[in-house]
Amino acid sequence: MKQMTRRDIIKLFGASALSMGLLGASGRAFASNSAHIVIVGGGVGGAAAAKYMRLQNADVRITIIEPNPQYIFCPGSNEVVADFATLESLTVDYSTLKSRYSVNVIQDKATEINYSAKSIKLAKGDVVAYDKLIVSPGPDFNYEAVAGFNRALAESDFPAAWHAGPQTLTLRNQINALPQGGTILISSPEDPYRCPPAPYERASFIANKLKHTNPTAKIIILDAKDDFIFHDIYLDYWKKEHGMGSATSRIEWVPRKAGGQVVALDAASRTLKTADGQHYHGDVINIIPKEMAGSFARLNGLAQGDWCPVNSKDFSSKRDKDVYVIGDSAAADPMPKTGYIASNQAKVVTQAIQAELTGKEVGTPFITNNCVAMAAEDWGMTVAETFRFAGNDKPYEEAYVLSDPTENPYLRHIRAELAKNWQRTFRKDIFS
Ligand SMILES: Cc1cc2nc3c(=O)[nH]c(=O)nc-3n(C[C@H](O)[C@H](O)[C@H](O)COP(=O)(O)OP(=O)(O)OC[C@H]3O[C@@H](n4cnc5c(N)ncnc54)[C@H](O)[C@@H]3O)c2cc1C
Repeated sequence: MKQMTRRDIIKLFGASALSMGLLGASGRAFASNSAHIVIVGGGVGGAAAAKYMRLQNADVRITIIEPNPQYIFCPGSNEVVADFATLESLTVDYSTLKSRYSVNVIQDKATEINYSAKSIKLAKGDVVAYDKLIVSPGPDFNYEAVAGFNRALAESDFPAAWHAGPQTLTLRNQINALPQGGTILISSPEDPYRCPPAPYERASFIANKLKHTNPTAKIIILDAKDDFIFHDIYLDYWKKEHGMGSATSRIEWVPRKAGGQVVALDAASRTLKTADGQHYHGDVINIIPKEMAGSFARLNGLAQGDWCPVNSKDFSSKRDKDVYVIGDSAAADPMPKTGYIASNQAKVVTQAIQAELTGKEVGTPFITNNCVAMAAEDWGMTVAETFRFAGNDKPYEEAYVLSDPTENPYLRHIRAELAKNWQRTFRKDIFS
């Protein structure tokens, strides 16, 4: 694929790009043609930041630091768990970012920020200097919040499958090998966690599969919450398709107030214990862990508590104005932790950096989240949210429209098609 040049950017944005300063101009706070924008994490937030930085500025140097040669999208990974999609279809590499957008990708792990020298150290020993640093390392999982659970168990017999990858396949294989009439336990965490509807979408997809392959099997969702997004739509679907509430229900949801919060795992007996002392045995146990900002952010003092506080106008860190934190690691209430939000935050940050490079005022951001979820391949739901900047130390003002459980059923088919299309276009927006 052809590398993106100054001329390509003019074609894309029109000649007005020049007058808008999109290609850089003189009188900048620092020289755009020598500025180095370094990005930690080549996932949704980091890759979107690299591409959109280049679309605005043909001159800056852009470097992504990412330990993996490929990235596997989480959107679509519930389909892999239920065995109607493959991990390969969700896997992308960095070749287009390198060749078309002239992004330098260093395959390594970032370890330490030297704030005064404006450089970061990598695991293999290299030191990379930056003018602006964008940090998007995704979340870390606090496995130990459930006593008896840990990373080693998640990587072996008790897959969390909350980063798409090997654990996704282990969970799929365990479900395929479930004994007839067996039980699957899914533990859903407290907010905030990435993709709020995803535990319920996962349960729904698995129930749909079992209906044909193992009709007497059962899924029990043990929940640390009393409510979740699309609650009424999922419950309606589960009643209609899986007899929820009847003696032969294929799916059961136990909210926190009914004792659903999981506190301990006994791996030997494959049992989960809940806060009110109940014990549940599962042939397959899927604990979705509590989350916190990625360790790179926490170990470098960007977090306060579990998440990284940022200035909402440009997502610059409260710790250092030349470092930006986006994606799941950022504390950006009331925005949910979704890929769509991460990619929009990336666009806000790159516009803010471009404004600074060209000596312009940083604009006021307006962020959207258009997210989709499914209960089945032909049963979709959507949320459209907007987040209006209300001041640097104030939360964004939120407005949203959510699919309605009473809407015309035909719309659910359309929304399911929209959901499938959303995944394809989302992957393309970031990596093509
Ligand atoms: C089952 C599931 C379904 C989902 N479905 C949707 C959906 O339908 N729509 C939606 O919008 N969102 C969805 N999401 C959420 C979405 O995947 C995340 O919100 C999004 O990936 C967050 O982007 P990020 O850049 O913060 O983190 P990630 O995309 O996880 O990227 C983080 C990257 O940083 C790298 N990294 C970590 N530490 C370092 C380090 N020290 N040095 C260098 N690199 C590092 C990692 O290797 C990784 O590549 C889903 C999530 C799950 C689990």
